[in-house]
Amino acid sequence: MPDPKPTTTEAPPLPDGLLDRLRETLGPRGVVTDAEALAPYLSEWRNRYQGRSAAVLRPASTAETADAVRLCAESGVAITPQGGNTGLVGGAVAEGGVIVSTERLNRIRSVDADTFSMTVEAGCILADVQAAAAEAGRLFPLSLGAEGTCRIGGNLSTNAGGIHVLRYGNARDLVLGLEVVLPDGRVWDGLRALRKDNTGYALKHLFLGAEGTLGIITAAVLRLFPRPAARETALCALPDAAAAIRLFGRCMDAAGDVLNAFECSNRTGVHLAETLVEGVTVPLSTPSPFYALIEFAATGADDGGLRARFEAVLADAMEAGLVTDAVLAETEAQTAGLWRIREGITEAQIPAGLCAKHDVSVPISQIPTFLERAEAEVRAVDPDIRLVAYGHFGDGNIHFNAVRPETVTDEAFRPRIPPIQRAVHDVTMALNGSFSAEHGVGLMKRGDVARYRSAVEVDLMRAVKRAVDPKNLMNPGKVLPPE
Ligand SMILES: Cc1cc2nc3c(=O)[nH]c(=O)nc-3n(C[C@H](O)[C@H](O)[C@H](O)COP(=O)(O)OP(=O)(O)OC[C@H]3O[C@@H](n4cnc5c(N)ncnc54)[C@H](O)[C@@H]3O)c2cc1C
Repeated sequence: MPDPKPTTTEAPPLPDGLLDRLRETLGPRGVVTDAEALAPYLSEWRNRYQGRSAAVLRPASTAETADAVRLCAESGVAITPQGGNTGLVGGAVAEGGVIVSTERLNRIRSVDADTFSMTVEAGCILADVQAAAAEAGRLFPLSLGAEGTCRIGGNLSTNAGGIHVLRYGNARDLVLGLEVVLPDGRVWDGLRALRKDNTGYALKHLFLGAEGTLGIITAAVLRLFPRPAARETALCALPDAAAAIRLFGRCMDAAGDVLNAFECSNRTGVHLAETLVEGVTVPLSTPSPFYALIEFAATGADDGGLRARFEAVLADAMEAGLVTDAVLAETEAQTAGLWRIREGITEAQIPAGLCAKHDVSVPISQIPTFLERAEAEVRAVDPDIRLVAYGHFGDGNIHFNAVRPETVTDEAFRPRIPPIQRAVHDVTMALNGSFSAEHGVGLMKRGDVARYRSAVEVDLMRAVKRAVDPKNLMNPGKVLPPE
C-alpha cells in the first residue's frame, strides 16, 4: 500500500566534515548538493514519494564506490543506492542520508562472443547493454518498457522480469558473476564467468533482488544467447482468459523451444490503449473479450519452418474455438504495430486516471480463477470500476489495475484504493500466489511482507540483513517491515 509522502522535504544534515572528505575522494563531479541538481534524484516515476537527501554521490569506479561507502559507514550515514530511478515501489527513494547513484559506473568492460558472456558496470543503461551484445552478434534478452532509462544494477537488484522471462528467465537467471560493495565498504569480488560453481552458499543470489538493502552492485558478468534470426508475431482474439491458458499450453507443447513471448490483455486494457495512446491500432475486425500477443523466434538453424509452425498452432487453436480471429504480422512495421498495442496498455494507465495497481502472480492454471474472484472483490467496492487485466500471462504474472470510473474524480477514488488492494492481494495469496511478481517491495509493499510472508521467512530475511548490514545503513526501511 502506498505510504504517505513525508510532510517535509528537508534532508537531515550530514555529520561535520563528511562532505569535504567525500569531495576529496570522489572529486567535484562525484558529489552533488545543489538543490536543483538534486531534485531529479529525489522525485519518483509515479510521483508517489518525495525523497530527502543532503547529497548524491556519483562514484566513477568500484574503488571510489567502496571508499565512499566506507566513509559513510564510519559516520553512521545511511545510503540509498540508485540506478535509473524507474522502480515502481519506492525502493530508490531516499529517506535521509545520501544517495549513491551508479550513473558514472557505465562501462561495458568486455564482451566475449565465443563464451556468450559480457562484463558490465552497474550503471550501464539496459538498452546499451542490449546494443553492445547485439554488436557482438549476441542477445542479452532482458527487455522491459523502461529499458532506455533503467540501469543494469537496478535490474539485477530488483530481479527484473519483462517480456522474455518465459524463454530466458528473470534477471537473476541471466547473471554468472557479481561485484558488490558491502555496507562497510569492503568489496566482494564474485565477477566469475562460471557456469558451474558449487562451493558453498550462492552469494550472488543474496544480492540479486535485494533492492539495494545488502550492498551496492558495481559490476556483473551476464549471460548472452544466440540472436534469433527470425521472429513471427501474432495478435489473437480469444473468448476469455480460460482460452488464453489453454492456448498457452498448446503453444508450449507445439513450439516451447521457440516461444518468445505470451502476453495477454482483457478488452478494457486494449480499448483504453486504442482510445488514449497515439499510434495504437488494433488490426482485427471486431472487438474481443480477450487478446493474446504471441511471438515465436528462432535462431539460424530452424528459422525456415517458423511461420508454418505458428500457422499450424493458430489453425488448431481456431478449430478448437480457443482463437476467434488472428493477425500474423507480415512486415517489421506490422510487428512493431502489434507490440505498440502492448506498450500502449501500460501507457494508457496514466491518462485513464487514478487506479489501484497490482503486480501479482499466481500459478498459470489459476489465472482465470484469480480474474474472476478479484473482479468480484473489486466490483463489491465500486461496480463501475474499469478493470484492466494484462501482462505476462505466460509467467502467471498479471498486472491487475482497477481504474477509477470516468464519472469519479481521482480525489474521490483515492480512499477506495487500500481496501481494493487488500482484497486483491488476499485473493492472490489464497491461490498460492505472490503480491509482487516483478516490481519488488521497496517502501510500498513492506506491509504486505509483514502480512503475507510467514514468520519464519521474515525471521530469515531479518537474520540475513543483520549479518550483512549490522548497522542498518544500506537502504534502511526498504523491503523489511519495521520491527
Ligand atoms: C514504463 C515502465 C515499465 C516497466 N516495466 C517493467 C517490467 O516489465 N518488468 C519489471 O520487472 N520492471 C518493470 N519496470 C520497473 C523498473 O523499470 C524495474 O524495476 C527496473 O529493474 C529498475 O531499474 P532502475 O535502474 O531504474 O532501478 P532504481 O529504480 O534506480 O532502483 C530500484 C531498486 O534497486 C536498488 N538499486 C539500484 N541500483 C542498484 C545497485 N547498483 N546496487 C544495489 N541496489 C541498487 C535501489 O535502491 C532500489 O531499491 C517498469 C518501469 C517503468 C517505468
